[in-house]
Amino acid sequence: MKILVAVKRVLDYNVKARVNSEGTGIDLANVKMSMNPFDEIAVEEALRIKEAGKADEVIAVSMGVSQSQETIRTALAMGADRGILVETDAELQPLAVAKLLAAIAAREEPGLVIVGKQAIDDDSNQTGQMFAALMDWPQATFASSVEIDGEQMKISREVDGGMESLSMSLPALITTDLRLNEPRYAKLPNIMKAKKKPLDVMSPEDLEVDISSRLKTLKVEEPEQRKAGEIVGSVAELVDKLKNEAKVI
Ligand code: AMP
Repeated sequence: MKILVAVKRVLDYNVKARVNSEGTGIDLANVKMSMNPFDEIAVEEALRIKEAGKADEVIAVSMGVSQSQETIRTALAMGADRGILVETDAELQPLAVAKLLAAIAAREEPGLVIVGKQAIDDDSNQTGQMFAALMDWPQATFASSVEIDGEQMKISREVDGGMESLSMSLPALITTDLRLNEPRYAKLPNIMKAKKKPLDVMSPEDLEVDISSRLKTLKVEEPEQRKAGEIVGSVAELVDKLKNEAKVI
């Protein structure tokens, strides 16, 4: 079985996002970019399934600018076998990514596709669900444990007040929750080996996918500065302020 894992190049989670001068998006000039943290978890899970003898190949897929090759190389250094980049400078919305992923899945015929539950740049939380709908596959979102037994898969996911267990047949889609696993670090020799692993580059046209945007970003603004807090001397003073200043009680 092949596993396809989607890895997105995003602003590193330690970097503070700043709005660009045109107010149209985040300023990405000269800032550190990394693999989306939920996608590191997706790669780790795919590798664990392969190491348990339940998959033969892990393919890391990314869509975006040519530098996304670095993100794929990170997945290859963690242990993925090969990579595919769908290269484009165009802005990609979740539907376009889902369609591209579906076109690759049609070619590669994986038994499992694993994506992050959300990309930390756009926070859409849509790509996996749209992909499963396009493929008409079962889906398990926000998975916090995965168990594969032949053609069947058992997933647990956290829901309000407890855990939900799902069982489904493969091929299927999983989106990763934070608690699924702790991703490994790539070791130096593996980083060197990853440079030699195959990485195919193709275009959306090669896959005959229309990636045109369906939504237009009108404006991006910094959130309002939060006001400084205040330490009060007593409960009575707190109640007085809530009642007479904040007027919330
Ligand atoms: P989103 O729906 O944008 O929050 O993204 C959810 C997941 O879809 C991410 O964690 C990635 O696994 C995948 N994904 C979204 N956009 C891309 C992209 N441009 N390249 C590769 N994977 C992507």
